[in-house]
Amino acid sequence: TPGGNVRVVVRVRKFLPREIERKAECLISMDPRTQMTRLQAPKPKPGDQGKPKSQARGKTLEDKSFTFDNSFWSHNEEDEHYAHQEDVYNSLGEEFLDHNFEGYHTCIFAYGQTGSGKSYTMMGTPDRPGLIPRTCEDLFQRIENSPSPDISYNVRVSYFEVYNEHVRDLLVPRTDPPHYLRIRESPSEGPYVKDLTEVTARNYGELMKFMRKGDVSRTTASTKMNDTSSRSHAVFTITLKQIHHDLSTDETTERTARIRLVDLAGSERAKSTEATGARLREGANINKSLTTLGRVIAALADPKELRGPRKGKELVPYRDSILTWLLKDSLGGNSKTAMIACIAPADYEETLSTLRYADQAKNIQTRARVNQDQMS
Ligand code: ADP
Ligand code: MG
Repeated sequence: TPGGNVRVVVRVRKFLPREIERKAECLISMDPRTQMTRLQAPKPKPGDQGKPKSQARGKTLEDKSFTFDNSFWSHNEEDEHYAHQEDVYNSLGEEFLDHNFEGYHTCIFAYGQTGSGKSYTMMGTPDRPGLIPRTCEDLFQRIENSPSPDISYNVRVSYFEVYNEHVRDLLVPRTDPPHYLRIRESPSEGPYVKDLTEVTARNYGELMKFMRKGDVSRTTASTKMNDTSSRSHAVFTITLKQIHHDLSTDETTERTARIRLVDLAGSERAKSTEATGARLREGANINKSLTTLGRVIAALADPKELRGPRKGKELVPYRDSILTWLLKDSLGGNSKTAMIACIAPADYEETLSTLRYADQAKNIQTRARVNQDQMS
């Protein structure tokens, strides 16, 4: 299929110490046969007098069910269906890398509230590497085992973050004041970050070195500056070029694939005023890129919206935020795209909002094509 729908998967993490301490109950169940994810309404705690808080506000909490392309149960390792980092890679990362070698752009982004497992899923830990290091490893394994001597490869990498509607290069040392990059748009390539560092990696070790460098730059900021990582979007991009020189015809063709791996800001940052009815506070914790991402997804998911009467106006509000402008292609264009909805096991409201978001993303269709050029 030329692109097809955005692939949407969900992953629930284990309890963290603070949840064990407060004797949290797991509200999530997953059916391995149907891939259905069920969110159960929390039981009122003995301490709560009378009606649960939410009922007092006039809503009743209900059990909700959603079905996604895949559901990863990473709550308790004893379970026979427990999804390890390797399982997530095998059922998503590997296939996306296949597409890259075919010449397609891909994008995988992790969505969810702070602490739901986005960074664990994308980056992982040294002992339990996530999608990004596994993709890097598999990429070079495939290149090194490539059977055909007439294909040569070029791998380049960049790493940036979007923080407070500014773009910062994660592969250059931090400066004070910070150095922000501008966005440009080219007719052929679309929007891009001007002067972003892009380096060649000749092997897995080099690629990992750049990944770590960027990651350190990101986390250093988060300890200094009041949890940047929950407010920033990190975009790791690998560009894979395959140059095929046909010895019999002396023709050269080039295939270029962009592999984008995105760790989004905590989804609680998208909370706007409609949830509480409160007036917008000055300097509120609202993340413009994240709220715009929600509007972009809503527009793309609803074809009516795209055929709408707003003549002359851009129908999908990509340009309203830095992140959506830069990810335009990944969201609604030339890319095969997946979203990993990360959820905590015992947080009804945030989890429901994440699952609804993910449910909407299922309807988005992209138009991926093989990126191949005849050079001579
Ligand atoms: P986020 O990036 O969404 O804010 P993290 O990835 O940092 O969340 O996860 C929060 C905590 O939960 C971390 O300590 C992380 O190691 C742990 N964690 C998340 N997902 C899992 C999982 N599937 N298995 C084990 N630990 C996890
Ligand atoms: Mg994180």
